[in-house]
Amino acid sequence: MGIREKLVDEPPHYPRSICRVCHILTQLDQGDREFLVDNFNKPSDDKSRFSDAKIADILTEEGYSVGLQSVSRHRRKQCGSR
Ligand SMILES: [Zn+2]
Repeated sequence: MGIREKLVDEPPHYPRSICRVCHILTQLDQGDREFLVDNFNKPSDDKSRFSDAKIADILTEEGYSVGLQSVSRHRRKQCGSR
């Protein structure tokens, strides 16, 4: 079987059009979601702002596997989902 057929047979779990972080946010309870959204929007000099790496670590620990790049992209609003 060629590469193309294999890829067509096995689509990625998360299509490019769906941001991993946006997807996770829909699964969190309201309190956690609002806390994270608020934190994403904090200015970079805000001391209470968590780093992208910290958020990726915590979400992964909680069972929502997510990479640093996804968090960064979402924070920069380049994920295309909002
Ligand atoms: Zn997003």
